[in-house]
Amino acid sequence: RIVYLNGEFLPFDAARVPIMDRGFLFADGIYEVSAVLDGRLVDNEAHLARLDRSLGEIDIANPHTLAEWVALQTELVARNGVAEGLVYMQVTRGVYERDFAYPPAGTPPTVMMFTQAKSVAANPLAAKGARVITVPDLRWKRRDIKSVALLAQVLAKQQAAAAGVAEAWMVEDDAVTEGSSSTAFIVTKGGTLVTRPLSTALLPGITRQAVLRLAAEAGLTLEERLFSVAEAHAAEEAFYTSASAFVMPVVELDGKPIGAGTPGPHTVRLRELYLEMARAGA
Ligand code: PMP
Repeated sequence: RIVYLNGEFLPFDAARVPIMDRGFLFADGIYEVSAVLDGRLVDNEAHLARLDRSLGEIDIANPHTLAEWVALQTELVARNGVAEGLVYMQVTRGVYERDFAYPPAGTPPTVMMFTQAKSVAANPLAAKGARVITVPDLRWKRRDIKSVALLAQVLAKQQAAAAGVAEAWMVEDDAVTEGSSSTAFIVTKGGTLVTRPLSTALLPGITRQAVLRLAAEAGLTLEERLFSVAEAHAAEEAFYTSASAFVMPVVELDGKPIGAGTPGPHTVRLRELYLEMARAGA
């Protein structure tokens, strides 16, 4: 397995980061994840645009142009022979003696990438549908930045794992904010697609954006607003989206079935449309 670190393609075991890396000490860095389908990156320019924005929001200069990022990703995917899976990219504020404030200008960032081969389109969970639990949202107030500070999400996902379910939906003031690693959606009994609008209180999901475009094409009415846990229980359908799950049907929330307790027709259609778009290389 070959990974990328600071300008070099290295065997996995040879890629080492010093203990004073600010990502390790402070979670002072950001990341991005693009899916790979049929050996090609999915919606990748949008992911790289969000990576650029995350870096800008925390004053780290983007170490690469868009074209350089794409070239590095493409080479890493090829070197690892990944047909289906993920590319993970991370940039931290680099290595310096421990101090909360930024290190001197010119301190090079730590840039790292690895691939993971896994079933994304062929994920068997998509046919069955995912079970989900709700947990309190313990995160900070700049959730629009794709920060590597993910402790609240680690705790949420572990609660889901302990409950034997696939995802945790985080809840704040009785409203569903997001999944621990996904954007949350419901389809109401009236056939309206509901997901919350973008703000600093959530990650602007790249898959969310694609699904909203497809929903309009599929003739679904869209309402961008918060929805409550009770509304989710009463929904006809529910699903979550992410680069690695694409469109994942939710069939059970906190032990109670959603709709018929099977993947809903709008959700199944949106997943198909998303896969078509991804395969067409959009
Ligand atoms: N919200 C959160 C909190 C996430 O961690 C993720 C995935 N990283 C998403 C939403 C989905 O974003 P995307 O569709 O860009 O993968």
